[in-house]
Amino acid sequence: MARCLVTGGAGFIGSHLTERLLGQGHSVTVLDDLSTGQRDNLQGVESHPNFKLRIGSITDPVLLNDVVRGIDVIYHLAAAVGVKLVADDPVRTIETNIYPTEVLLRLAVQGGQKFFLASTSEVYGKNFKEQWTEEDDLQFGATTRPRWAYGCSKAIDEFLALAYYRKYGLNVAIGRFFNVVGPRQVGHYGMVIPRFVDQALSGGPVVVYDDGGQVRCFGHVREIVDVVTRLMDTPAAFGQVFNIGSDQPVSIKELAEQVIARVDPKIEINYIPYGKAYGDDFEDIRRRVPDLTKLKSTLSYSPSLPLGSILDEIIAWKKSQ
Ligand code: UDP
Repeated sequence: MARCLVTGGAGFIGSHLTERLLGQGHSVTVLDDLSTGQRDNLQGVESHPNFKLRIGSITDPVLLNDVVRGIDVIYHLAAAVGVKLVADDPVRTIETNIYPTEVLLRLAVQGGQKFFLASTSEVYGKNFKEQWTEEDDLQFGATTRPRWAYGCSKAIDEFLALAYYRKYGLNVAIGRFFNVVGPRQVGHYGMVIPRFVDQALSGGPVVVYDDGGQVRCFGHVREIVDVVTRLMDTPAAFGQVFNIGSDQPVSIKELAEQVIARVDPKIEINYIPYGKAYGDDFEDIRRRVPDLTKLKSTLSYSPSLPLGSILDEIIAWKKSQ
């Protein structure tokens, strides 16, 4: 049994990871300030004897020092996330995503903890390649466009983590998440599937930004947390960066059509320009598809649940709310 710390454990991915770790017989301390995470996400585990919730901010170094004491594995998921939140509040994005990661990495070197760093496919920026491998270039836009603050801040986290691996031998693995979806994800911060499902369930229209030709791959959170826990049990993963997600591309227009077909075929699609959704200084990423070769060869596993099953599950969950 390992004693685990999950920062951001009340969030969408963090709460699923917490459940998985407890199910595997580990103990879990969650650190979360409940800003984008919700206590309700932890409803199923709050009375578990091996579970502890610490409500507080990862920007508080004294608190961090306290929560890592006695911990064996740190899963660092706390971050400012969501395209909408990042576009609205770039200061918070930068402050939450950079300095606390450095403090935690330092503490892990001192305490000898294993470390998982949650990163993001946003670090590739707007690289125009068909499929992105971990060694591909990061291509950000201008600093006047707040969106890139998110990818840039997580790229700095990655640089820090890799530097701590090289300099101090920290056992750290980095995962770049690609559009993780599933029950408990909310649409307030921009995430497309919960938004489409909410819109469809309330009679439409489903609102697609731009022409809907932009492409994404959606991975189920259950399979994503599977990958994360497996990586921490794999010594070959340390000092490495991994794409984590599905590699089955779908356009946002097709996604809207699939949601509509499942809820009510009479619902219409409304196309609006990006400027109306995020402001005029917004820039989107046209295509985002991971190359999962490295993940597959390291773990002999990668997420494979088809989008149709994922949508069925999310729609059923939303209806049950
Ligand atoms: N999107 C959309 N309608 C929405 C929310 C998002 O058409 O209500 C589009 C968005 O422009 C993007 C894609 O769906 O091209 C995925 O958006 P999300 O914010 O979920 O993830 P990311 O942009 O980080 O891939």
